[in-house]
This record gives sequence, C-alpha cells and structure tokens, in this order.
Amino acid sequence: MEILDGKKISNQIKDEIAAEVVKMKERGEKVPHLAAVLVGNDGASLTYVGSKVRSCEKIGFDSTLVKLSEDTTEEALLEKIKELNENDDIDGFIVQLPLPKQIDEQKVLMAIHPDKDVDGFHPMNFGKMALELETFIPATPFGILEILKRYNIETSGKHTVVIGRSHIVGRPMSILMSRKGFPGDATVTLTHSRTKDLAAITKEADIVITALGSPDFLKAEMVKEGAVIIDVGITRVPDDTNPKGYRITGDVDFADVSPKVSYITPVPGGVGPMTIAMLLKNTLLARERHLAKTK
Ligand code: NAD
Repeated sequence: MEILDGKKISNQIKDEIAAEVVKMKERGEKVPHLAAVLVGNDGASLTYVGSKVRSCEKIGFDSTLVKLSEDTTEEALLEKIKELNENDDIDGFIVQLPLPKQIDEQKVLMAIHPDKDVDGFHPMNFGKMALELETFIPATPFGILEILKRYNIETSGKHTVVIGRSHIVGRPMSILMSRKGFPGDATVTLTHSRTKDLAAITKEADIVITALGSPDFLKAEMVKEGAVIIDVGITRVPDDTNPKGYRITGDVDFADVSPKVSYITPVPGGVGPMTIAMLLKNTLLARERHLAKTK
C-alpha cells in the first residue's frame, strides 16, 4: 500500500506557482490577485478563507479579503460581486460557502463573471468542463486529478465509483473521470444516498472516491483487493484528547481499509491540502488568460 501524499504534492504545486510568480515579476508583469468574500462568522469558513489568503501571500500573489456581516442582504452581496467583476486589478475571486439563509446561493454563483470564477461553480464553467473545453475545474476535483496524475495511477478503462453527488465534489468528479484523456477514460458509477446495495458496487471498483461526509463509512469489506481509494471527507469529530476538542476524520476507515488497497489518501494530508493548491493554480490561470485577452 502506498500513501497518496497530498500534502507533499500540494507543496510541489505551490513551489511551481511561486516560481511562475517570480518570472512574472522579472518580466515586469502584474502578479495574480485573488479576492475572497466571506459573509458571516462561521468558524470553519473563517479557517478556510484565512488559509486561502495566507497561501496567496506565501506564494507571492496579491490577495484581498472582503468580510461582510452575517445580516448582509442578497442585494448588497450582489453589488459587491459586481464591483469585483468590474475591478480590473482582481483576476479571480471566490465567495465562501455556505451563505446565510437570506441569500440565494445559486443567484450569487451565477453573478460571478465566468472569467473570474476560480472556484469553477458558474454554470458556464461547469458546462465547459463537461464539454472538455478550457475552463476552471472546481478545486477539490482538480486536486484529485492532480494526485492521480502525479502518482501516474492508471485510470483508463478502470471502474471508478464516486460516492456523493454534490455540485462541488461528487458530480464534477464523476464527469471528469469519464472525460477523454488522462486522468479520465474511466467507466464511472455515481452513487448517492438513494443508491441500493452500495457495497456490492464499491466491491467492483478499481477506484473509489468518497465524498459523503460520513466518518469511517467505507470499510475493508466494501472494497476490492488492490483498489485505489481517494477520501474527500472532512468531518470534525468530538475528541477530548485533542486540545482543539475535535479531530478531523475522513469517510474511509483508514486502519481497516489501508492494508487491503494499493493506494490511499490519508485524512488529514490527502485531498484537503490539494484544494487550496488548485485554487491558487486556477488563479494563476485566470491571470494568464486575463493577460492574453488584454494583449
Ligand atoms: P454534501 O453534503 O453536499 O453531499 C453529500 C453527498 O453524499 C450527497 O450527494 C448524498 O447523497 C451522499 N450521501 C450521503 N450519505 C450517503 C450514504 N450513506 N451513501 C451514499 N451516499 C451518501 O457533501 P460535499 O459538500 O460534497 O462534501 C462531502 C465531504 O467532503 C464532506 O465531509 C466535506 O467536508 C468534504 N469536503 C472536503 C473538501 C476538501 O477540500 N477535501 C472539499 C469539499 C468537501
């Protein structure tokens, strides 16, 4: 069994991007600029946005954090998005989800200009992804593709079972694995909470990608000998022995499953760190595409 070390790969990717930024500076070009919009005070969201902004600084990007109060109206947020769309200095921006209940998430995601949509959630970008056109691939699925690529894991013709059909992980992942090329060319089964006899399906899989948010859900008896396991799940489980009062747990029972498989991502240190690295990659791509358009 080999660990798919997302932490290590994400650091390599960040180093590669930082080297690009140095070259941009040498050419006298503007460096990529990412803005992040945070509405409210959700603890996990604050942590995520904070680390996105810090990562930008570390690799030499410009970053802007737009913090709005919990009671922000939909209209005020849409106005802010319009400003960011029109601000030529900003190459890409994200609106951290979830949003407070008075705001329609779909309306907000639709308002982001597709050229600046570095999360890849706009329907135009999502559609382009499905049509195998140039776009921004959502960061978490993009990170999984990069892990498969850098470990040179064969995906062609492999039966890939994705558990979870969310718009940000499971659904795009199922599309990406079925696209032409590498990583892709897989035969994909997308499963979800209504799937019957899931274990019978996962047992047939060469690659299992779990994105359901249910700690230790996938057990050894549900997987085939030698399978590749990608665990997207991140759940905070109460833990008195941890100073934070919780620990992070994936969807895969690692101790049970790992001895049986060929490759597996740990949690933490697997898919999680890749997500930020690929957001930075998308921001770099946004800058390059922006520059190419204005030349
Ligand atoms: P979600 O809650 O939006 O969707 C969960 C999906 O799992 C649903 O489609 C549901 O049908 C399916 N599901 C639930 N129970 C199931 C069951 N028993 N059997 C089969 N399918 C079942 O989740 P999401 O936003 O995609 O997130 C999934 C997990 O991934 C969460 O733990 C989340 O924290 C984590 N996540 C991690 C990253 C990262 O950077 N690593 C990024 C996004 C999400």
